[in-house]
Order: sequence, then C-alpha cells, then structure tokens
Amino acid sequence: MFDNKDKTDISELGEFGLISYLTNAVEIKEASTVKGIGDDAAVLDFSEKATLVSTDLLLEGIHFDLRYVPLKHLGYKAVQVNLSDIYAMNGIASQITFSIGLSSKFPLEAVEEIYEGALIACKKYNVDLVGGDTSASVQGLVISVTSIGTGEKDQVVYRSGAKEGDLLCVSGDLGGAYVGLQLLEREKQIFLENPNIQPDLEGKDYIVERQLKPEARRDVIELFRTYGIRPSAMIDVSDGLASEILHICKASKVGCKLYEEKIPIDPMTYETAREFGLDPTVCALSGGEDYELLFTIPQSQYDQVKNQMDISIIGYITEESAGCEMISKSGHVHSIKAQGWNAFASPDPESE
Ligand code: ADP
Ligand code: MG
Repeated sequence: MFDNKDKTDISELGEFGLISYLTNAVEIKEASTVKGIGDDAAVLDFSEKATLVSTDLLLEGIHFDLRYVPLKHLGYKAVQVNLSDIYAMNGIASQITFSIGLSSKFPLEAVEEIYEGALIACKKYNVDLVGGDTSASVQGLVISVTSIGTGEKDQVVYRSGAKEGDLLCVSGDLGGAYVGLQLLEREKQIFLENPNIQPDLEGKDYIVERQLKPEARRDVIELFRTYGIRPSAMIDVSDGLASEILHICKASKVGCKLYEEKIPIDPMTYETAREFGLDPTVCALSGGEDYELLFTIPQSQYDQVKNQMDISIIGYITEESAGCEMISKSGHVHSIKAQGWNAFASPDPESE
C-alpha cells in the first residue's frame, strides 16, 4: 500500500523514541492543562465547570479505507469527529488524548503524517494534546481519540430535553459527506481497474472535503453564546439525520414532524447524488458523517434563530404518541426510520 522505499522502520526508534519523536512539537496552550504529556497521567483543572469526556475508536477497514483517505486527513478527521461530541453537549473542548496501534506496514513517515493532521486540528480548535498510548498492532491501523472539555454546569445540553412545541433545527447542510464518499469509492474502483487513470474529482471539492475533512461546529456553540440561544436538546449528526432525530425523540419521550423541503442540502450534494441515481433526501436522512449539530429550541427563541444563515428550522416537536414523521415535498406523511450507515456492516477485507 505504501512505497516504503527510503522510509524509516519504526522499530529503529522503539516505543519511547517514537512517542518523543511524535510529541516533540506539542505545545500546551490551555490554562486548564496543569500537566500534559510526560507523566503517568495528565493533570487538568476545570475549577467550577462540568467536565465532558468522549471517546471514539477508529479501525482500518471498518471506519476508514486507506486506499482513498490520505493519512494527514485521517489524523485531522479523527480529532474532529471526537470534538464534535463535546460541542454536541453545548461544551467547548480543551484537551484530547490520541492513541495509535500500528502494524509493521506503517513506516515512521506514515505515523508522522497522521500526527501532523491531528495537531493541525488541535491548533485550529484550541485543544491541547495531553497524552495517549502507542502500541504495535497485528493488523492494520487503530486510532482512538478521547476528548475532554467543559460546559457551564447549568448549560450542558442533553439529548433528553426536547419538549412538545419546540422547533427542530440543524446547522449547515446535510448529505454531502455521504455523496463525497460515493465519489471517492467510484474513483477507487476505477483506479483499481486501471491504475493509470487519475481520479476525476474536479469541481467536487466541497463534497470531497465534507467526507475527508469535516469541521466540528465549535462556531455554532459560540453563536449560541453570542445570541443567547439555549437549545433544549442536542446531538451531532454522525449517523444521518433520521437516526439522530430518533435518538432525540426517544431520549426526550416526544414525537416530531420533519419537513422534507426544509432539509438543507448543498447544490453540489444534490446534483452529484442525482448523477449517482441517489435521492438527495435519503442521503441527508441516512448518509451520516456530516458532523452538523441537530438541536431543539423553545418557540420563545425563534427570533434569535430565524435570521441565522447557517441554521435551518426543519420541523417541530410533538407529543410522543404522534410518532416521528416526515412530510414529503408532495405532502405525503412517512414515518422516520433509522437507516444510518452501520459500522458493523460489510467491512473491507484487510489488505496487508
Ligand atoms: P505508560 O507506560 O504509563 O502507558 P507511556 O510510555 O505509554 O506511559 O507514555 C508516556 C507518556 O507519553 C504519557 O504521558 C503518555 O500520555 C504519552 N503518550 C504515549 N503515547 C502517546 C501518543 N500516541 N500520543 C501522545 N502522547 C502519548
Ligand atoms: Mg502507554
């Protein structure tokens, strides 16, 4: 998979050599980091705030495919998807730990690229890298990121807070990451059949970036603070709009009405979905990996939200017995079903 000629074998450095090589450039910037890398545990001090902690595990062949994911993007995305969970609690992330398991096919240069991407994400989002773990793996690449952040104790937002009459809102646009993945999969197949053909991704930057380089919505949390918006429930869109709506409704013991025509879909997502013979709405409902924020607000906050360019009101919350329904563009009523991509479905065979 890699051209390992002239590359450095990790065993030349050993575990401790590798750790210090990778973490050499790490700087501590956050006031809440008392001690970062270098002892048995990091030490953090959040005084009066609520501490938020979230972990993700990413496995090669299950969560990512190195045949089209550049390593730097992988490091970047691994951090982003994890920060997104802290923002989804209405908190701000301040530290991460980053752990990796590496099989022998990975030279030092490959790991360096992963770290480069991870550290770019940390810098951009004001997060300190405060630790991790490093190990050999029998097969493939394993990455686990834990993110740590804080929220004001009375401002943490759970999935369970939605109330009948609340407005259902989402940031940004949906379906792009899934359609970007279809495009990358197609180019991968063409490449496997004829390695002389270069990928044709021209003009598709937006959706390819939505897949390879997602941006967690810290800016939306800041916008809430600026405009005094206080969501009653919130979740990040990792598995698709349908699945996330159902999570909020189940946790909150409510139902909802979602309007298909209100679901925000970027024109490039729409067009490319059509080229693939896919329904753009289905891509938004079931595609996943958009890392937008889905949230509910009381109607009394409508004025604060209505003119926000980057927030769409897509429906409202009903009583539980009314069920979770989507009103289609043609006026038909469909019950919302979770068909989010399933991480346990048909993993790619390992190509060591
Ligand atoms: P331990 O034996 O206690 O697990 P390690 O030797 O694995 O300690 O780690 C030493 C220090 O290096 C710790 O502060 C740990 O958090 C940090 N560290 C180890 N691996 C990584 C990594 N992949 N990224 C960042 N920090 C790491
Ligand atoms: Mg260790």
